[in-house]
Amino acid sequence: MIYFDNAGSTIVDKDILNEFNKDNLEGFANPSSFHLLGLDLSYKIENKKREILEKMGFNTSNYEVVITSGATEANNIAILGYARNNKSKGNHLITSEIEHPSVLNVFKELEKEGFNITYLKVKNNEIDYEELQKSLSKDTILVSIMAVNNETGLILNLKKIKEIIKEYPKIVFHSDLAQYEGKIKTNISFLDMATISAYKNYGLKGVGALIKKRSVNLTKIIYGGSQEYGLRSGTVSYPLFNSLYLSVVSGVKNLDKRYKSVEIIYNYLFNELSLLNDDILINSLSLNEYKEYQSPYILSFSLKKKKASILVEALSNRKVYVSTKSSCSDKIKSYSHVIYSLTNSIDLAENTIRLSFSKDNTLEEAKEFITILKEELTKIKDR
Ligand code: PMP
Repeated sequence: MIYFDNAGSTIVDKDILNEFNKDNLEGFANPSSFHLLGLDLSYKIENKKREILEKMGFNTSNYEVVITSGATEANNIAILGYARNNKSKGNHLITSEIEHPSVLNVFKELEKEGFNITYLKVKNNEIDYEELQKSLSKDTILVSIMAVNNETGLILNLKKIKEIIKEYPKIVFHSDLAQYEGKIKTNISFLDMATISAYKNYGLKGVGALIKKRSVNLTKIIYGGSQEYGLRSGTVSYPLFNSLYLSVVSGVKNLDKRYKSVEIIYNYLFNELSLLNDDILINSLSLNEYKEYQSPYILSFSLKKKKASILVEALSNRKVYVSTKSSCSDKIKSYSHVIYSLTNSIDLAENTIRLSFSKDNTLEEAKEFITILKEELTKIKDR
């Protein structure tokens, strides 16, 4: 098997899985319970939250970690919560056209509640800063821009965005770090709120977190027993949370090593795919030319003449697993809103393929992938 759909989900790390199994037998208690078992887990959770903040470069006195079921829930809690809580201060919100649906669809919802939303475009591999500057006003209260795009691997320059918006002290800056955390090394400690997800980084599915400044007040969207500072009611699973913690710790520790091994695969595939330019148009950037703009973990290309869905199926029949657009995008829309926003072509957006890599992929797999890809491309008729 060749598994190149790691942006959809990584394979859980064996050490993390072993800990998870152990935790389910030993760390099963409810961390909100007042007996010793519960108190012990709640103490462990507090310490591990502090370590997550430290490892990610956030100030432990000013920030807190809200455990969620994943990035989608964290994005919802952050964006809906902040907008609804601060409507009286202003009703203008800013995001980008290339966000994940768990951000974009939240803004669509807020539009219905009367908020005015600016969806920024990406121009020359960067957020359109001119458009950002022009859209800012005394009514702007929130900017939410992802750190790494999940379809093309484009790295957004959050520091530059922060510099532009810092003239407006009312604005809270949120970023979806689902494809950044454990993979890319840039400073993000200036964010007011950030979203992470364990299973994009070798942890378990079903857990993520919203990291937020303590001073940022949110209106809750989930009602119940008031766990997680009242923002995410529901019993915290220590085993799941610990898998998030372990994925962050090993992500930070091994970031450089993993980056280097994935970079070799990316560069090889980028060169090989460039040679297939009769059939393929690469949407991601060359790492040699655009290192600061491109994650080596995601390589996107569009098929010029053939149908992407047919190629994905043909590859899958040969146990090669890749995705068309993002695996978690809504299945109703048949094209990628990200590739459409970047290329302005429905045709390319409909026929996009995403390869995404993990610490465990090898150059040998990449070579075999190219051999199989070439064979399958010759078999598929033009659309
Ligand atoms: N944001 C980004 C950038 C993602 O890539 C994903 C997962 N595809 C999500 C959010 C949603 O994550 P989760 O499944 O943890 O809710």
